[in-house]
Amino acid sequence: MNPATVERFINRELAEWPLAATNYEALKQVQTRFIDVDGFQVKIQYNPARRVSTGARIDRKSIEARPCFLCRANRPPEQGALRWGPSYEFLVNPFPIFPRHLTIPEMTHTPQTSKGRGPHMMEMARDLEGYAIFYNGPLCGASAPDHMHFQACPKAELPLIEAVDRKMPPSTGNVELQASLGFPFGFYIVDTHKRVEPKMATETVRTLYAVIDPSADEDDYMTHEPMINIICYDTADVTRFLIIPRKKHRPSNYGEGPGQILISPASVDLGGVFITPRKEDFDAVTADDIRRIYRECCYTESEIIDVIDRI
Ligand SMILES: [Zn+2]
Repeated sequence: MNPATVERFINRELAEWPLAATNYEALKQVQTRFIDVDGFQVKIQYNPARRVSTGARIDRKSIEARPCFLCRANRPPEQGALRWGPSYEFLVNPFPIFPRHLTIPEMTHTPQTSKGRGPHMMEMARDLEGYAIFYNGPLCGASAPDHMHFQACPKAELPLIEAVDRKMPPSTGNVELQASLGFPFGFYIVDTHKRVEPKMATETVRTLYAVIDPSADEDDYMTHEPMINIICYDTADVTRFLIIPRKKHRPSNYGEGPGQILISPASVDLGGVFITPRKEDFDAVTADDIRRIYRECCYTESEIIDVIDRI
C-alpha cells in the first residue's frame, strides 16, 4: 500500500461523508495544552466528541446488546473502506483525535486480540510510512472488544514516540527486548530489524505475555491475553513495538462526580495525548492526576525490569 493511496482515500471520505467532514473540521478548533510530568511533556486535548468512547460501557452485557459499529452491515452507507491485505479494512475514524485517524477492523466479526497479530501490525507500520499503528486490549480502552481492530495516526502526533526514540535509539540486533528507562511509567520496547521477517518477533512477544500474565484465560475473549496497549511504528532500520502492560482499565477517580475526572486511558493517552471530553477536566487536570493514572493503571519501571529478569 502506497501512503499516497491512503491519503487519497482519506480525502475522498472527507469530501463524501458529511459526518466525517464536520468532525475533522471541528478538530481544527480543538483546545490543547501541555503538562510536564517528571520531564515528559504530556498533551491534554479537550475533545467533547470523544465522550462516547471515553464513557463507553464495555461490560459483556452492554457489548452483546448493541449492533457492532465495526461490522460492515451496521456502518453508515456513506462510509467507504480501503482494503489492506487479506482481511483488514482501513476506515476513517468519524470521531477523530488526530487530523489523520484511521480505524482498521478485521473484515469479520472476531474478538479483539493481539495474539498472532503482531506481524500484521508491523507490516502495516512498514507499509503506512509515517504512521503509528496502535492496539487497545479488550479491557484497556477498545470500545469494540468483540470486533478485532487496530487504529492508526501520524506517528508525530504521539509525543511518546519521539521521546523514546531520543532516549533509547533502536537496537541493532535482529529482535531485541528492552525495558523503558526514564519515563514516568514503564513499558517494553521490542525492536525488530528490517533484515528479518516480522514474524521473528512473535516468539519474544509470546514469552513476554506468558511472564506478564501466566493466568490469561485462552477461552475468554476479555481475558485471553495480558491487559495491554501496543504502539507499533517504523524507524529507518527497525520496526518498534511499545508494549504497555496495564494493571487497571480506569483509575479509581474515573467518573463525572465531585473529585472525579473523565479520562479513560488507552494507547493514545499513554502515547502522550490525554483526551478530556469535559471542559472542566481539561481546565483542572494536573501532573498529579496524570501520575495517579500511571500509578494505578500502569507498571513502574522496576516492575517492567522485574518481568524481563524472569524471562
Ligand atoms: Zn463487528
